[in-house]
Parts: sequence; structure tokens; C-alpha cells
Amino acid sequence: MPEQQCPLCGKTAKYKHPSYGAGPKCFTCEECAFFVISSQAEKLIDRSPSDRKIKLSEKSKKAEIGTILVIWVETIEKEEIINSHYEKEDKWF
Ligand SMILES: [Zn+2]
Repeated sequence: MPEQQCPLCGKTAKYKHPSYGAGPKCFTCEECAFFVISSQAEKLIDRSPSDRKIKLSEKSKKAEIGTILVIWVETIEKEEIINSHYEKEDKWF
């Protein structure tokens, strides 16, 4: 698996793309466990304050077995907002 800096904690993490497309990345991070992030959300998180990233990392670690945190960007009245929720893990991995 390719490696890059984790968008949430900045440590080295592994990622892969889900089987059906090259858009979002499925991350495996020692610190943040598993999560899925869209490329748009990855860019937006990069410019976000660190407490925002820590919250998402905490949320990712709290995922129940068989579920995974999915992070994406929602545009509400032209404003880009980072959104996240849990989905079934087998959909992504
Ligand atoms: Zn991480």
C-alpha cells in the first residue's frame, strides 16, 4: 500500500483507493485507526485548525467494529463544510 502523511494526525499512514474508483482514500493509521476521506475533504482538512483534525481522529477511533468513519465535504450555501459519519466497513475495505 502507498504511504503518505495522515491528513488527521500527520504521522505516516498507509492508504488505498476503494475498488470502484480513484476518488476517496481508505486510510490505515496507527494513531487514528481506519477512515475514508474524499480528496476534497483531504484538501480542506489540510487548511483546518488542528483541534478539528483531532476531533475527527477521535471519532475515527470510536468507530464500532465493522464500521468506519467516512469524511467528505458538503457545500451549503457556497460554503464548504467537512462532514463525517460512520458507514459499514465492508463497503470500503
Ligand atoms: Zn492519523
